[in-house]
Formats: sequence, structure tokens, C-alpha cells
Amino acid sequence: MEFSSKLLENAVNEMSQLPGIGKRTALRLVLHLLRQPEHQTFQLSEALSKVRAEINFCKSCHNISDKILCEICENPNRNSALVCVVEDIRDVMAIENTSSFKGLYHVLGGKISPMDGIGPQDLNINSLVEKVKSGQVKELIFAMSPTMEGDTTNFYIFRQLQDYEVALSTIARGVAAGNELEYTDEITLGRSIIDRVPFEASLKS
Ligand SMILES: [Zn+2]
Repeated sequence: MEFSSKLLENAVNEMSQLPGIGKRTALRLVLHLLRQPEHQTFQLSEALSKVRAEINFCKSCHNISDKILCEICENPNRNSALVCVVEDIRDVMAIENTSSFKGLYHVLGGKISPMDGIGPQDLNINSLVEKVKSGQVKELIFAMSPTMEGDTTNFYIFRQLQDYEVALSTIARGVAAGNELEYTDEITLGRSIIDRVPFEASLKS
């Protein structure tokens, strides 16, 4: 792609770093922004800079939060003995939308994927184990996407926690194999939490 302006080329190159955005789409988006009123483009760039510079992760569950603890962890009406383990923040949002879950979350920040060079040490697994060790958690629900990486991650955590007094369960497989949690409809996802099964039983099936 030949550019008549270095500034335009830079903007397109940066934009095309985003997932699913090729050079052509990036060019279309940048040209669109140039046609917008100047203040609108500045608002966008300011919102992005601010979210990047000021975002916090909840100290307890690693959800995105504006404060030290997120609103879910801070809510006294939530059951802190019940913790749902999810891959990322989008899964928290998807499960919250179902209104079927009144416990807390633990956001791992990804899943174990040797192909992508992601090991257990790259995820928020130690803090989960510590949480269980402290005795405050009575049940953990694995709500990872039913993919090979999700299963590997569940199994790794299961092995770490086997010797502790904590019930381990996994969401029912109403979530079709290979599906990402965030694309599952709310009713199916809500049911799959209510109909959860003991983790060890899920290993035999
Ligand atoms: Zn939290």
C-alpha cells in the first residue's frame, strides 16, 4: 500500500495491529475518523489513552475495575464461598448477564496453551490456589470454554487443589463443545451454571 502521507501511513499501521483489522479496513477507519469533527476523534483517542493508563484490575478477582476491589467483590450480598473460574473479563460480563450467579469470580486472564507459549505461570492461578488455601472458598465452578485449552486449564487447577477441602464443579455442557462462552445465549449459559456437575464426574464422561 502506497501512502501520500507518512502521518496517514503511521495511523493505518497502528490501527491494523488490532485483531481482525487488515490494512484496507484500517485505512477505511482512519479516513472515517478524518471526516469526523475533530473533537470526536480526540475524544476517542483520549478514552483509549485513559483506559490504558488508568485501568485497574481487582486485587481479589482480577476483573477490570476502577477501584482496588471491583463492585462484585465489594458487594456484601454476593456469596464469597462460591467462586466461578473464568478465562477473561468478557466471560464475567456474559455470566453476569444471565443473573443466575450470585457468587464471586476469579479471572485467569487466559488459558493454558503450549502452542501459544502460555503456561500456568502466565495466568492468575497462584492467587486462586492461595484463595482456596485460606479456606474462604467452599466451591469452585470451572466455567472455561469447552475447548482443549479450557480442559487442560481446568485439569491443571484440579491437580493443584485436589488435596484441599473445596468442592470442584464444572458448568454443564449445554455449552456446545468448542464454543466460546461469550457467544453462548444467556438462558443456556445460566442453566449450565445451575446444572453444574462435580468436576471429577466430568472427567469420566
Ligand atoms: Zn473483584
